[in-house]
Amino acid sequence: MHPQLELLLEMQDLRSQKQALKEQADEREVESDVFEVEIEEALEELDRKLEELEDRLDPSVQSTYRRVSRSMDRAVVPVLNGVCYGCFIAVPRSWASEAAENEEVRTCENCGRFLYYVD
Ligand SMILES: [Zn+2]
Repeated sequence: MHPQLELLLEMQDLRSQKQALKEQADEREVESDVFEVEIEEALEELDRKLEELEDRLDPSVQSTYRRVSRSMDRAVVPVLNGVCYGCFIAVPRSWASEAAENEEVRTCENCGRFLYYVD
């Protein structure tokens, strides 16, 4: 897999972890202050890590990532059976064979999300 794509997937994982933590925090609103503090700290830690990883993206990948991640939940989505699972539109057929190993960083022509191929 392309190292930039690995990085993007790692970032996406951290982002969903952040989302899950926030939801947990909302559910536990009434519980102890201590818990809130820990969640705050955990979220800050995740943000720090996300910034660090973002700095390691190539400039072109980074600008696309910033644009896509601002407006969408997931910046990286799987392609299954030739369909982008971000917008559910078929990706060009010719991509499938060359992209199968995920050796290139591709974005969906329709929704702009990064794509990774799943067998
Ligand atoms: Zn798409």
